[in-house]
Amino acid sequence: MGESIKIVPLGDIDGGLIMEIASQVSMSFGITAIVDEMQCCHESAYNRRRNQYSGEAFLKLMEDVRGETPFPREHRVLGITDVDLYIPDLNYVFGLADETRSVALVSVARFKKGNGRLIERAVKTAVHEIGHTYGLAHCHDNRCVMYFSYNLSDTDYKGKEFCLKCRKTLDARILSGEVMCA
Ligand SMILES: [Zn+2]
Ligand SMILES: [Zn+2]
Repeated sequence: MGESIKIVPLGDIDGGLIMEIASQVSMSFGITAIVDEMQCCHESAYNRRRNQYSGEAFLKLMEDVRGETPFPREHRVLGITDVDLYIPDLNYVFGLADETRSVALVSVARFKKGNGRLIERAVKTAVHEIGHTYGLAHCHDNRCVMYFSYNLSDTDYKGKEFCLKCRKTLDARILSGEVMCA
C-alpha cells in the first residue's frame, strides 16, 4: 500500500491552483496526490470577534475527511482555503500542520495582494506544511522551503525546494515510514 495525499479544496478554490499544488507536492515527496471533493460550510470555525477562522477547527475537519485508517501517516490530508486562519498565539497563519494527525492546511487569503504570486506562494506553503507532517522542523536557511515565513517577503524569498540538510532528513523519514508500514 503506497502513500498518498488528499488535496481538499475548502470552498470554491481555483482548479488550476489546486492542480499546481497537487503536482508539486507529488513531485517533492514522491507520493500520489489525489484531489478530493470540495468541502464547504465551515461556519462553526468562524470567530466573529476576530473575523477569522480557527486553524484548529479546520485541522479537525481535515481529520474527519480522512476518516479512520490503520496507517494515518500514509494518508495525509491537505486542505486549501481562501479564508483567513488564526491560531491562539498568532494573528494569522499562512498554513498549519499537525504531524501526529498527518493533516495540514494552506490559506491563500493573504497571498492575493500584489504581483500575481499567489500560486507560487501557495505551492511553497503546501510543501512546507506537508514537510511538517513528515516531522521536519523549521530551518535556519532562509532559502529553504522549511524556513518560517514571518511575512510575505519571507515566502517570496525562499524557494520551493528543501535545503540539503532538510532533504536528507526528509528522505530518511520517508524511507523509515516505508519500512514501518511494509
Ligand atoms: Zn512551519
Ligand atoms: Zn532546510
